Amino acid sequence: MREDHFDRRTVLAATTALGAAALMPSLASAQGTAPAAGSALPARGEFVVRGAHVLTMDPNLGDLVTGDVHVRDGAIVAVGVSLAAPGAEAIDGKGMICLPGFVDTHWHHWTTLLRPVMQADDPKRTYFPVTFALGLHYTPEDSYRSVRLGLAQALAAGVTTTHNWAHNVRSPAHADAEVRAMRDGGLRGRFAYGPALGMANDKPMDLADIARLKKEIGNDPMLTLGICSRNVDGNTGGTRGAIDAAMARKEWSAARELGLPITLHTSGTGAIKLLNEAGLLGLDLQLVHPLNTDAADWEALAKHGVHYSISPLGEAGRSGEMQFPEIMQAGVKVSISIDNVTAERCDPFACMHMLQTINRHRTGGKFKLTTKKLVQMATIDGAEDLGFADRTGSLTPGKRADLILVRAGDPHVSPHMGDIGDPYDALVQLAQPSDVDTVVVDGRILRRKGAFTALDYGKLLADAAQSVAALKQKANWS
Ligand SMILES: [Zn+2]
Repeated sequence: MREDHFDRRTVLAATTALGAAALMPSLASAQGTAPAAGSALPARGEFVVRGAHVLTMDPNLGDLVTGDVHVRDGAIVAVGVSLAAPGAEAIDGKGMICLPGFVDTHWHHWTTLLRPVMQADDPKRTYFPVTFALGLHYTPEDSYRSVRLGLAQALAAGVTTTHNWAHNVRSPAHADAEVRAMRDGGLRGRFAYGPALGMANDKPMDLADIARLKKEIGNDPMLTLGICSRNVDGNTGGTRGAIDAAMARKEWSAARELGLPITLHTSGTGAIKLLNEAGLLGLDLQLVHPLNTDAADWEALAKHGVHYSISPLGEAGRSGEMQFPEIMQAGVKVSISIDNVTAERCDPFACMHMLQTINRHRTGGKFKLTTKKLVQMATIDGAEDLGFADRTGSLTPGKRADLILVRAGDPHVSPHMGDIGDPYDALVQLAQPSDVDTVVVDGRILRRKGAFTALDYGKLLADAAQSVAALKQKANWS
């Protein structure tokens, strides 16, 4: 195994022309089989956000207490004070924090529509049994609808980039449906092509179809492809399957030959040791859930440049300590993920706050985790994990315009009229998704004044309800 075949910083920069998005033909319309849902994406225009508290998350640019962000044709043109932007639509940012959209690094969007079937206090109706029982019956249309719904909820919470961790790809048509949903949803993201729920552990994923999809996606600035692997630690496979080192080598080698990054859940013990001994760790690997790891694991991960994604809301309820202080101290980069919105809230603000709280609880503040670092983890660090840092994650002129405006004037945020105090503290400790006023992805204004600009969310809900009813019937669930 070579470790130099995938470098998050250079590969994507070399293969992607910034600004090509506007010229990219839509495969969704070319394929023409997507069920109608919502409306077309709004056009990219020219606008300038004026008078916001701008957090660029770019160390060279810093923050502006009162600043402007000028956007044209999907790109950030300039960030500064009192920018001249003749002809640009003005968006009033007064009383708001303007920052890059949140970057989620692990989210099972296919499960979103199952939320109404969940029952937290009934063991038969919690996340794993529900998603497994109904997941076996998904049609491509169910996958499409679920991903669309999840992406809409992501936007409403200020997430502009997501890692769609699709571990129920039941056929090539299901993969196509999820990809189409991502394109129609308008977010930036990676589609992590996974196995089908319930498939035999000694059977490999559909490697030929992954190669087909890789070719089809090509160099798209909005969408990239990776794979999500079944668990390798044996004792945590559960309903999601578990493979041995030989199968991991087979599947991962195929992915690596295509230049595709890999992601893997590791909530049990032993996975990292096994991967290290098998020579499978690498820069192209993202692990999820840093629980039950040890010092030898951290050293191996740091040495091989492996990233970790932490899902604070779900992990706080799992067995084992959340070990981000240890792994970050060892030099492993950590980003933040939503995981699912069937059993957890769709809330990047709560994710950051939970990490701050757990860190204080576990280390008494000995491990320094500032509110600014937490916002970095939720933006630029996530972009780096997914290989998107050349185009998103900071408000840097030349990058694509993925940004949000967070209202800081509501009673739960603002201590004094017009004074938001420390903006990072406000985002981590006080703000919530309902404060997200405006959401822009690749220069398209997808949310404005807390509402979708073009999407028919009611239709997504109605479609989802139809799918859930059919799935329950097929699975014989009341
Ligand atoms: Zn997960």
